[in-house]
Amino acid sequence: MTNYKNFPMVPRVIFGPGCFDQLGEILLPKRIHSEAPFIFLVDDVFEGSPLVSRIPLMFNDQIIFISADEEPKTDQVDVLVEKIKFQYGALPSGIIGIGGGTLLDLAKAVAIMLANPGKAYEYQGWDLVKKPSIYHVGIPTISGTGAEVSRTTVLLGPEKKLGINSDFTTFDQVLLDPELTKGVPKEQWFYTGMDCYIHCIESLNGTFLNAFSQSYGEKALDLCKEVYLEELQEGDARDKLMMASWHGGMSIAYSQVGVAHAMSYGLSYLLGVRHGVGNCLVFQHLEEFYPEGVALFNAMKDRHHIVLPEGICKNLTEDDFDIMIKVALSLEPLWENALGKEWRKQITPDKLRSIYQMI
Ligand code: NAD
Ligand code: ZN
Repeated sequence: MTNYKNFPMVPRVIFGPGCFDQLGEILLPKRIHSEAPFIFLVDDVFEGSPLVSRIPLMFNDQIIFISADEEPKTDQVDVLVEKIKFQYGALPSGIIGIGGGTLLDLAKAVAIMLANPGKAYEYQGWDLVKKPSIYHVGIPTISGTGAEVSRTTVLLGPEKKLGINSDFTTFDQVLLDPELTKGVPKEQWFYTGMDCYIHCIESLNGTFLNAFSQSYGEKALDLCKEVYLEELQEGDARDKLMMASWHGGMSIAYSQVGVAHAMSYGLSYLLGVRHGVGNCLVFQHLEEFYPEGVALFNAMKDRHHIVLPEGICKNLTEDDFDIMIKVALSLEPLWENALGKEWRKQITPDKLRSIYQMI
């Protein structure tokens, strides 16, 4: 008998330009008592911006500004959890992440680790979390990762870059306000948006594909094409990219990502290359696996005059290549989705080295 996955979804979502102003009324019934604060983890790009004054603080609620310059780390999560536990007698009423994938993932991980013993790295993997996390809310301010819907929080640990994949990772509430994405710099808009596009291509061309994933993946892909290849009004484009991210995330939830993600994790682990740009750096060289996807990617890149960085792997040592290759090859489900159960016949360390050398 096939054992199908019983997948958790975000139970509540609010969508609409300006809906951020409803956050206070959404949180109110979730406040446990006046001593149990809401902790807002906010991308420090918003420090001093008007958005901060719109955060509905009450009692001893706290805003913690966090830089997204580096991707989230397991020990960063542990430090945050210690800090929050030390500062308050009671567990918080909830954690609210405001920012891109970095802040959303941090919020998820902190909410899990406030309710579970030990260190964050001990939970990197699949279904290792035993106790429900505390209430947590995701508010994306840039569109593409799908972190707002996924059941994973991707963390850089001492040994690997790997998600805490669990039923308790998924947000309890998501607030989608496309206006929050207004200030995103163009290059970043492209890279993070391409994360969504690549999710679609990897899901739709994967061996794990099923009607569930396909229905979301096709919708997300259509929306990406509209946003990146057509002339849309700005507000319209913002709304559509936010929904593309959501659908792209739903698509991989019930399937997997593929070659670009596996190799991008290697780049990110060794060199700290950020997820969005890392995916693009790899994806441009994957015609062999995704011919149509790469052609369309190039069209979008050219249309928006995006110049990808070059020479990233130029001065790397043999050991460096080996580390990246090891990280990439360890992501077996991704390869199996991309190429089937016999993927090892096609993917060897030498093959991966030859691709990394082009980056
Ligand atoms: P990010 O969160 O790192 O943000 C990218 C940059 O955009 C940062 O400099 C940030 O300060 C800036 N930014 C964000 N919103 C802004 C705004 N409104 N105005 C101006 N600047 C703004 O980038 P990302 O691409 O959203 O996320 C990448 C992270 O997401 C990686 O750590 C990756 O591993 C993770 N990820 C997670 C999942 C998941 O399912 N959990 C999926 C894909 C990626
Ligand atoms: Zn991704």
